[in-house]
Amino acid sequence: MIQNRGDGAPGQVKEVTSLANPLVKDIKALSLKKFRDQQNAFMAEGLKLVIDALDLGWSIRTLVFAKSARGNPAVEKVAARTVAAGGTVLEVSEKVLTAITRRDNPQAVVGVFAQKLMPLKGISPGEGDVWVALDRVRDPGNLGTIIRTADAVGAKGVILVGETTDPFSLETVRATMGSIFAVPVAKASQEAFLAWRKGFSGLVAGTHLKGAVDYRTVDFGAQPVLLVMGNEQQGLTDELAAGCDRLLRIPQAGRADSLNLAVATGVMLFEIRRAALKLDGDSRS
Ligand code: SAM
Repeated sequence: MIQNRGDGAPGQVKEVTSLANPLVKDIKALSLKKFRDQQNAFMAEGLKLVIDALDLGWSIRTLVFAKSARGNPAVEKVAARTVAAGGTVLEVSEKVLTAITRRDNPQAVVGVFAQKLMPLKGISPGEGDVWVALDRVRDPGNLGTIIRTADAVGAKGVILVGETTDPFSLETVRATMGSIFAVPVAKASQEAFLAWRKGFSGLVAGTHLKGAVDYRTVDFGAQPVLLVMGNEQQGLTDELAAGCDRLLRIPQAGRADSLNLAVATGVMLFEIRRAALKLDGDSRS
């Protein structure tokens, strides 16, 4: 059932309690890639994330909040921003929020945003810039963690090469902890990526279990770096490996064959950004 609440924002906040409501059905469908692509939209959970997204200029389509959040000044403010941006605001029951997020104890606020990818040709790396390219990344948790880590070290963005998991799935967005809104993401076929890479004016550093170079011996300096990471099961394709200037290895002890992709990316990013990361330069401390 939809009814206008009529308190403060007449006609703009819709109260929804039925799972059969078409607006709710559309939002629930966003858990499937097919419908995310059809609607060019995705969902992000949590008040802080929604505020960050709006601050960073992402376009909100729908704000959903729990009845229990009614009257919360921060939620009211976000609702007003949503309406001002031409979006819809829904006040829903706990049951509806649980169904939308597929979670018990869901967050009280969910935002539906328009998807946004960066075109590969829009990337022109400058001094000290670091980009991460991921070959056919499969696991949403890995992708989300890498986007979050790229954000933490101040990398410029993430390029998804070939068939990959969807950066806008609920699992990936959750794992980014909000960094999906801060880190530009580009997508390219392997062919398009390799063509673009030819114009990359810096070091293209691949990581490989058979890499001949210890990653700690490389002076990354201030040149732009493109860090290329392999697929979870198969590592880098031969073509991508051949397209790298150097293939680096993280030495290991013990019995594990390899590191988890997100862990290996984290190790590499903190090394590449070592000189740029200083406690006294940490704007958050
Ligand atoms: N079986 C795969 C292989 O043969 O490459 C393992 C892939 S590993 C789980 C995923 C990616 O993480 C690798 O392609 C590489 O980019 C990176 N990686 C993991 N451990 C690494 C290490 N010790 N040195 C360099 N790269 C590593």
